[in-house]
Amino acid sequence: MELTAEDVWAAIRAEVHERIPEHAYQTWIAGARCVAVSAGELIVEAPSPFHAEWLEDKYGDFIIEAATGMLGGTVTLTVRASSSIQDPTVPSVRVDSPTDAFAQTGAPGETPSSAGEPVRAHIASPEVSARVGTTPPRSVPLTDPGLFSRYTFDRFVVGGNNQLADAAGRAVADNPGQLYNPLFLYGGVGLGKTHLMHAIGHASLSVDPHRRVAYVSSEQFTNELIQAIRMGATDRFRARYREIDLLLVDDVHFLRGKESTQEEFFHTFNTLYDAQRQIVVTSDRPPREMEGLEQRLVSRFEWGLVVDLRPPDYETRMAILRTKAEDEGLVLADEVIDYIAHSCSSSVRELEGAVLKLLAVSSVWREDITLPFSKRVLALRRLEQQDRAPIASPDRITRLVANRWRVRPEALASKSRSRNIAEARHVAMYVVRELLGTPLQQIGEIYGGRDHSTVLYSIRKVESRMGEDDDFRGRVEDVLAELRGDSSGPFQY
Ligand code: ADP
Ligand code: MG
Repeated sequence: MELTAEDVWAAIRAEVHERIPEHAYQTWIAGARCVAVSAGELIVEAPSPFHAEWLEDKYGDFIIEAATGMLGGTVTLTVRASSSIQDPTVPSVRVDSPTDAFAQTGAPGETPSSAGEPVRAHIASPEVSARVGTTPPRSVPLTDPGLFSRYTFDRFVVGGNNQLADAAGRAVADNPGQLYNPLFLYGGVGLGKTHLMHAIGHASLSVDPHRRVAYVSSEQFTNELIQAIRMGATDRFRARYREIDLLLVDDVHFLRGKESTQEEFFHTFNTLYDAQRQIVVTSDRPPREMEGLEQRLVSRFEWGLVVDLRPPDYETRMAILRTKAEDEGLVLADEVIDYIAHSCSSSVRELEGAVLKLLAVSSVWREDITLPFSKRVLALRRLEQQDRAPIASPDRITRLVANRWRVRPEALASKSRSRNIAEARHVAMYVVRELLGTPLQQIGEIYGGRDHSTVLYSIRKVESRMGEDDDFRGRVEDVLAELRGDSSGPFQY
């Protein structure tokens, strides 16, 4: 098998994808391409000079690390801008009418270059303001509505684990605002929430290309709001979000604890809902378990249909692997597919990563993907992942919190109600929940057989104290940073 730059780049991207937040990946990495690869050098092109600089600066190390693992030896990375790539930076809001509030020029703080073209879902986060100079002139029609073209219903493999979500998504795309509003999709990482959301967007546009569809991550929504407030442009922010026919808001668990963003989102939600516009949201957990989210928002989320996505069962994993192999132009023997389906069971992303890894390594080593080869490569991959597994176990969290609060680790699971021990226990519960997303009941079991509501109470207590007491917040954040293994955190982009 020949090694192409694309194969290597696909494998590098898959590795980087696992290590940085989805939004960062989609914004900075997904739209870049690799134009040349050799033993010692990787040349990557990004859609604009700004994009190139940002990519290299923030994610260069991740890319180099992945490339080194794959190609061996020292790898240097060159990132340059190419005008032939369309900047996919942010999924967009489609606004068709030129008289739309957002398409008017001359308002303070708004860049003239954004007028008239389909407005991006970014109002003006810092990266966008910096990017303005490279935005295409308004006369260039943006054919891409900003949804990732790969994420369609066609390519979404349906199994018992996601059947209901798929059906609900299709129904919503066909009849937005009428059947299930909002549609609330939840499930763990890599189970297809984002994919499904984009698929709903595509399908909805194919029914009616004039629908105004907007996909936005909760993080973007927050950043835009902050920026709008800073620029005194909240009216525009509101008007824009309230013009939409189908609003797709990804990862709303990100809004936990962000009160003013929740407030704004609540009003956006109500306006859209009252106008019978469709809202789809995703989260890593059901509405009821969203501590740190205002009750009125939780109850709004429960108005519509709440559906979960579960990890795929064995048959679905086989079907997904066949699809992914096909996508990569790869023929995998049944025994290899069976082996991967058995050994990778946690998420679709894991399955995808396994296929890409096999592809990349087989290209580099020029070996066929046989069963023994797959076993070797995937065993190696697991080791690599363990090495860098940044996130702690409950046990490590317990020990670290106990150490910082100067209590014995066992005391956290004891009945003791002494102030310091109780505080440490609450913090540990909070950290476990925050980092691992462990169900409340299970957290209760870890910490001395406490029930679900006690755990929820403890977590809320930590959250509210973090809002009031800077010193306390600093201590908790130190623990989080240490457990994340990188105090600068991947969210700093
Ligand atoms: P989430 O948003 O739940 O973390 P994503 O939607 O980002 O997960 O999915 C992770 C990867 O797995 C994506 O590349 C997506 O295309 C793929 N994927 C997820 N579910 C499916 C599915 N049912 N069929 C095909 N691909 C899937
Ligand atoms: Mg996602």
